[in-house]
Amino acid sequence: MVERAPYLTTRLQGFGATIFAEMSALAVRTGAINLGQGFPDTDGPPEVLQAAVDAIGGGRNQYPPGIGIPELRHAVSNHQKRFYDLSYDPDSEVLITAGATEAIASALISLCEVGDEVVCFEPYYDSYAAGIAMAGAVRRPVLLRGPKSSYVPEELEAAIGPRTRLILLNSPHNPTGKVYSRAELEHVAELAIRHDLLVVTDEVYEHIVYEGEHIPLATLPGMRERTVTISSGGKTFSTTGWKIGWVCATPELVTAVRTSKQFLTYVSGGPFQYAIAEGLNLGDDYFRSLAGGLRERRDRLSAGLADAGFDVWNSAGTYFVTTHLAPMGETDGVAFCWSLPERCGVVAVPSVVFYDSKDVGRPLVRFACCKRPEVIAEAAGRLATLRASG
Ligand code: PMP
Ligand code: GLN
Repeated sequence: MVERAPYLTTRLQGFGATIFAEMSALAVRTGAINLGQGFPDTDGPPEVLQAAVDAIGGGRNQYPPGIGIPELRHAVSNHQKRFYDLSYDPDSEVLITAGATEAIASALISLCEVGDEVVCFEPYYDSYAAGIAMAGAVRRPVLLRGPKSSYVPEELEAAIGPRTRLILLNSPHNPTGKVYSRAELEHVAELAIRHDLLVVTDEVYEHIVYEGEHIPLATLPGMRERTVTISSGGKTFSTTGWKIGWVCATPELVTAVRTSKQFLTYVSGGPFQYAIAEGLNLGDDYFRSLAGGLRERRDRLSAGLADAGFDVWNSAGTYFVTTHLAPMGETDGVAFCWSLPERCGVVAVPSVVFYDSKDVGRPLVRFACCKRPEVIAEAAGRLATLRASG
């Protein structure tokens, strides 16, 4: 029996500290290399950092407008046009949020009735379950299976019922590194249209794709008007602490999402909004080079993990590489991750926290590759000692 947390509402029972906070604290406590929480260990582009300094020095320190500063809303709109040929009116179809996290929570709270069902894919990013719970909705996860993380089409179809309000889709996908194919997205779109569902897409890793192509769901026929597209600047500009995110959708959907967003934070990160606008206006080269630099680290980490004896799943995008522990003679990712700092000075995340199907998630462990090459190399060396020590 899991103990009931005192004071905490029934809706949020079972949501303890996030695994990222726990594992980063473990890394600090033990001095281990932190390949757990996904944040880069280098800063973003200097001109973006300077724009934040200039905004603070230049007196941009009071509340920005509720929907975000015009410069950033225009930059988001131009970005969607430049990369995906999607047109969004910066005044009525773009909303700036406190990271993608707030955008996702606000979308769920604003769009779901109590008791509505949200179809998502598992493993899912941890804030989805909490956001669905805060909205009083119910999650209906569809399993991504095996190293290719593919889902069974009939299982997605069966997950949709009379209470389904929306599908929550994350591509490129944390934690598996899956990038949804056009055929998969077409299937999701076909079901959304057939059942008259909304889709909320989490595209925070849109520029971190190693294989295949990032296709925003809103680009598919009939989907722009029913898709709430969410992204943020944290990953794209290596500024995860700034928490500047955004929503693109029809005016009616943006107004709905804004209604809860304005009472969660109202606004956030005024000076950083100027800086992320600067970032979104950088040339194509910047966006292209981002994945290039990370690809080498993904390769180095994947090779190191394979050498150490893990079964390594191919990551087509994101900051993450997933491994299966079976060849190591281990079955429990949680126990493994808690013992890893002591065994070899590395921290990773047990993927089971992203699963409802605990048996499927139990032997899986996620490693972050968004660290400097020398840090990845050092971590690989330490992990190799696992094999030696048996
Ligand atoms: N979605 C996914 C899939 C993530 O990995 C993260 C973590 N960065 C977020 C959302 C949260 O993004 P933000 O930091 O912009 O709130
Ligand atoms: N997105 C990051 C990860 O998956 C963590 C962000 C957070 O700590 N909330 O590691």
